[in-house]
Amino acid sequence: MTTVAFIGLGNMGNPMAANLVKAGHAVHGFDLVPDNLKVAKDSGVVVMANAGAAVKEADVIVTMLPAGKHVLSVYEDIAPQAKQGALLIDSSTIDVESARKAHAIAGRHGLLSIDAPVSGGTGGATAGTLTFMAGGSKEAFAKAEPVLKPMAGRIVHCGDAGAGQAAKICNNMILGISMIAAGEAFVLAEKLGLSHQALFDVASTSSGQCWSINTYCPVPGPVPTSPANRDYKPGFAAALMLKDLKLSQEAAQAAGAVTPLGAEATQLYALFNAMGHGGTDFSGIIKFLRGELS
Ligand code: NAD
Repeated sequence: MTTVAFIGLGNMGNPMAANLVKAGHAVHGFDLVPDNLKVAKDSGVVVMANAGAAVKEADVIVTMLPAGKHVLSVYEDIAPQAKQGALLIDSSTIDVESARKAHAIAGRHGLLSIDAPVSGGTGGATAGTLTFMAGGSKEAFAKAEPVLKPMAGRIVHCGDAGAGQAAKICNNMILGISMIAAGEAFVLAEKLGLSHQALFDVASTSSGQCWSINTYCPVPGPVPTSPANRDYKPGFAAALMLKDLKLSQEAAQAAGAVTPLGAEATQLYALFNAMGHGGTDFSGIIKFLRGELS
């Protein structure tokens, strides 16, 4: 049994913490929102009064927070209060630069750290099947792996500090672009009098196949589990897709990479969000492409 501190018990953090409890770890949790603490308590998390109290006895500290600024402020707070030799795992999706700063804060206090963002959404968090993309030293990764296991379907060590965040935003840039490509193809098929099922049967087994078509098809029918079958209820909200695309564009600019389709996808998701659809599943962008939204 390991004592794990869990800071940030929101939509993702709470089910992840619950899986750590189920695996037999003592989980000391903290969040700013009282309702979230109640949910945590009901799943067996020991709720603490603040982040410092949560980390005091922890061998491993997991953070699952909204953005880089939250992670850095929590790290400044907890790093001086953590046990010597403790490991910090940040699973939030944040910019690569903040992730590297977070590693530096940990290093200044003699703590091990990895950035380990996830894909798989709230469904994966609940089922314990998230994919973790980790960045950090081999030593930190080896220590993190057994703690991540009860929350994970797959754990990939991507490289040094920040490599997990880099992998996450590259992956989600592909996803944003490919969902728009899939949506455009179905809209064109409609105009050409081709049925959704016919395009699906061809594209899902031909060179057009991709996750956005085969697993998360943006029209109702061909893949019964996709959000298109429940009026685009998320799933993965368009606001979160926009967040990740913006992170990809910040990173591309900082690194001098040319990503014209990533930039275009960011603009289209920004428009979709600005029209009030941030809470819709990101595959719902097909409605915008079809011209159904004004
Ligand atoms: P959320 O807003 O539901 O949860 C974040 C939690 O952090 C909130 O409960 C908030 O109160 C808490 N928090 C903020 N500042 C805090 C502080 N100083 N101390 C303690 N708690 C604090 O968000 P979420 O959906 O759980 O996402 C968390 C992270 O995971 C984000 O970075 C998001 O991009 C990423 N992510 C989300 C999904 C998803 O499908 N929801 C999928 C993959 C990755």
